[in-house]
Amino acid sequence: MTIITALKDNGDLKKNWSEVQLKLKEVYGIDVYKSWIQNVEAKEIHHNSLTLIVKTRFVRDWIVSHYADKILDFFQKLDSSVTRIQFEIHENFYNEKNSQTNIVDFATGSQVLDSKDLGYTANRLDHRLTFSNFVVGESNQLVFSAAKRVTETLGHYNPLFIYGSVGLGKTHILNAIGNELKKTEKKIIYLSAERFMYQFVKSIKNKDTQKFKDAFRNADVLILDDVQFISGKEVTQEEFFYTFNSLIENQSQVIISCDRSPNDLDRIQDRIKSRLSGGLVVDIQPPDIALRLQILKNRCKAEEAYFGKEVLINDDILSFIANEFKSSIRDMLGVLNRIIASSRIQNKIPTLQDAKLILKDLLSNMQSVVTIEDIQKIVVNYYNLSMSDFLSSRRSRHVARPRQIAMYLSKKLTTKSLPDIGRKFTGRDHTTVIHAIKKIEELMGGDKKFEYEVQDISNKILKSN
Ligand code: ADP
Ligand code: MG
Repeated sequence: MTIITALKDNGDLKKNWSEVQLKLKEVYGIDVYKSWIQNVEAKEIHHNSLTLIVKTRFVRDWIVSHYADKILDFFQKLDSSVTRIQFEIHENFYNEKNSQTNIVDFATGSQVLDSKDLGYTANRLDHRLTFSNFVVGESNQLVFSAAKRVTETLGHYNPLFIYGSVGLGKTHILNAIGNELKKTEKKIIYLSAERFMYQFVKSIKNKDTQKFKDAFRNADVLILDDVQFISGKEVTQEEFFYTFNSLIENQSQVIISCDRSPNDLDRIQDRIKSRLSGGLVVDIQPPDIALRLQILKNRCKAEEAYFGKEVLINDDILSFIANEFKSSIRDMLGVLNRIIASSRIQNKIPTLQDAKLILKDLLSNMQSVVTIEDIQKIVVNYYNLSMSDFLSSRRSRHVARPRQIAMYLSKKLTTKSLPDIGRKFTGRDHTTVIHAIKKIEELMGGDKKFEYEVQDISNKILKSN
């Protein structure tokens, strides 16, 4: 391998790894990402094995038992040569670059202490997540009233245990509780169970567990998000249980969220389960269509208020989104954001067709999708060619250009990778596909007529589908 290709490969590796990290962030959320994924670096690929660098054995074990399959899965989509992942532990590799950003929101009035003073860090409450922008419908009515009730009378339900699947508003409602209580003099700790574990393990390592324990036991309110992450880790469970009991005995309020009911938690000790169900257990159900639409409309309004500019999204697009994305409010709002962002960049009101194009990678799982074969057929017809000429190795302009257009549209209208596209064009290399895409973009940039022509073909393909 020459130096130049080695460098390029390493560039690809970094790029692929960043892309995988982003995917993991999407799938597992920001907290998991920050705790486990963000600081992992990709070192090299050697004999089909990807080497990742982590900072401690603990992080490695955790990643191996929780995320390794997904990591491999995502990585293989970008580089199918990789069949294995291995880890290197570099203790000094990590320079604590994030430790200062995780300041404890230890909300006694406006008091905010930083990690150095406390020996551990909690999550910040997100001030944007409040009761007032939590839209209430049938599916979350119960949780909403219980949460309100707790802020009015601490200890009324203790613990308050909120469960529901991902993206349904658990973190939102927990932050709403925290933000409401922040107005009082109460000492609140809000953090995810992941972070609880992480900090606890760190305090063992630094031999200052007492500080860790004291900090928790002095809280008036402990809000713990995603408690399912505690399952399986004996020592942490023990510590959690201990903290939990002493808080309840001190009549501190504990509020917990989880992705399943206490009974459905596996690998968690029975006495913890029964303690968790000792107060009020309420669930958030998936939203119905009316609630989904209302959440979308409210989000558009919030965006307008924030940017001081009208959001130009038609009702048919909102209904389309509300109908297609049923299971997670987070996903649904993510989709809305994408369309809003794109309409801002393009500076136009998107049509439903535009919206579908923007969402092509998401919709491909759910709807009939454009295939490369469809694209080839339509391009061949458009230019009156024969398919065998079109797919042959001939390079004369009258077949080469349509071929490049088809490759360009394959990238644009499908979710296929460059190598996949190359293969569908009688085994061409992915660099040929890149060249084609660049060429067509360049031509479109300099020639309006050509741009319309490609647009015209693209419309025909989308209509045929
Ligand atoms: P979970 O913690 O259950 O996975 P989140 O609380 O993070 O879900 O919610 C995902 C997204 O959906 C957040 O942006 C949140 O603000 C929004 N959301 C969820 N439920 C509602 C609701 N009832 N009203 C407004 N926004 C909501
Ligand atoms: Mg959450």
